[in-house]
Amino acid sequence: MPELPEVETIARVLRDGTGIYNTSIIGCQITGVHVLWARTLATPKPKGFIKQVIGQTVQSLSRRGKFLVFSLTDYTLLIHLRMSGDLRVESAQDENGKSRPFEKHDRLALEFNNGQRLVFNDMRKFGRAWLVKDSAKVLGGLGPEPLDKGLTHKIFFDMLHSRKRQLKPLLMDQRFLAGLGNIYTDEALHLAWLHPLALSHQVTREASGQLLDAIRCMLKEGIRRNGASIDRVYRGGDFQNHFRVYGRAGSPCPNCGTPIDRLVVSQRGTHICPQCQQLD
Ligand SMILES: [Zn+2]
Repeated sequence: MPELPEVETIARVLRDGTGIYNTSIIGCQITGVHVLWARTLATPKPKGFIKQVIGQTVQSLSRRGKFLVFSLTDYTLLIHLRMSGDLRVESAQDENGKSRPFEKHDRLALEFNNGQRLVFNDMRKFGRAWLVKDSAKVLGGLGPEPLDKGLTHKIFFDMLHSRKRQLKPLLMDQRFLAGLGNIYTDEALHLAWLHPLALSHQVTREASGQLLDAIRCMLKEGIRRNGASIDRVYRGGDFQNHFRVYGRAGSPCPNCGTPIDRLVVSQRGTHICPQCQQLD
């Protein structure tokens, strides 16, 4: 599943027209819509969506947690890629000037006045799009951004201690902190030498600071490497070649050489070094 660094990478390249997307979509006006899988639209229903989105211009593109946030003239378009969603930009017409055929798992396409189109492809159909006047209706429940400087060590420590939960499910809870998923949580917990089952209100002040620093370190490293290209979703990232523990069961811990263990926490495959991440 795309996490904060992958979504951030997509937002940046769509904005700048670099990398795997060769055209910026900023300033483009939406002239056509193809709803290929109606349930991709969380709100409104296809008829209303088409009516409202046509004629809108993309003014800016940003990210909040794992959401892409497209600011349009009068609305905000939010896209969550969930398990297998991906976006691509392509010419709406083929070499013969005919409408380019869609691919098997394409769910939604927005056509622009420059002849390009943005296509939302999602094999597993969990991805969603929202067109809203007030983005807080969708984003309002999210926790703070981990890279936001306003999130201080003290605030993070207080957040951990106000919950009494195991670290891994808590860190992946988007209402607690926005943007972490399975990969970056495992990587950050290893870097901070914390066990995924450790209880949040028992983490010391020092370990809490190390955990926040570790989360930021792994997210920044992921962004620097354009995210991780796994789970069928390719966007030119190579962080998957630099994982410390994720998906490396049986391989040596980069810190101490002990073979990495795989356990299941909250139904998610979880990777730890049994030597570096002990449960007190
Ligand atoms: Zn180790």
